[in-house]
Amino acid sequence: MKKAPLIIGNWKLNPVSQKAAVTLAQATIKACRGTNASIAIAPPFVYLSDVSKKISRSKILLAAQDVSTEPLGAFTGEIAASQLRDLKISYVIIGHSERRARGETDSDVVQKVTQALKNKLTPVVCVGEKERDAKGDFYTTVAKQIKALTAVFGTTDIKKIVIAYEPIWAIGTGKTATVEDVKEMQLFIYSVLTKVFDRKVANSVKLLYGGSVKPHNAKVLHADGGMGGFLVGGASLNATDFAAIVKATE
Ligand code: PEP
Repeated sequence: MKKAPLIIGNWKLNPVSQKAAVTLAQATIKACRGTNASIAIAPPFVYLSDVSKKISRSKILLAAQDVSTEPLGAFTGEIAASQLRDLKISYVIIGHSERRARGETDSDVVQKVTQALKNKLTPVVCVGEKERDAKGDFYTTVAKQIKALTAVFGTTDIKKIVIAYEPIWAIGTGKTATVEDVKEMQLFIYSVLTKVFDRKVANSVKLLYGGSVKPHNAKVLHADGGMGGFLVGGASLNATDFAAIVKATE
């Protein structure tokens, strides 16, 4: 049976207030009503509690935008996976390029995934190249990020990890990868996973695409890109646009 597509809205450092966050959550619930896709929204940490209450009776799940490498203790400013679990968070975005740009390494990503899995959160690990070169060296960048995971996580764990391919040059720029770019990367990521595990295991890992996904390009990217859904940034701040993207995957 084909798995339902997964669409995650990453609100990043938005919106401006708790009230606006709850309003956006409410509008998202309303706009996405009647869809079969799996949907999650990732508000900033400070809004998680109120948004959690707002969406509790809807089909929309909650995602966090990051998690600590540490379980608990003297780590000022950090948020532990167990604390997210306590708030009924389902997914956690790990290794987003905007965090990698602030110094997050593959080793941090592995530690964060370890914490997430220990606490029954689904890690959504972002991978992607800064730019595309004619020789195809960008594949090496993506392979390295994925191999950091396969070096540590075995068959059981890898199946619980969602991998989001997000070429950095396409994030928030309006430049979307072409359908061919997305399809080629989907096949490439599966080949990397197949070499370590096998085709069955590789096929059970959910892959998402992210990078300037909008209502006008979502349908073709989903139909022909071969990914299992989208990680959406900017467009998730508009409930109508986000719902149009969700519906384009059906
Ligand atoms: C993102 O931040 O994960 C993202 C994909 O952003 P945008 O959709 O705005 O490019």
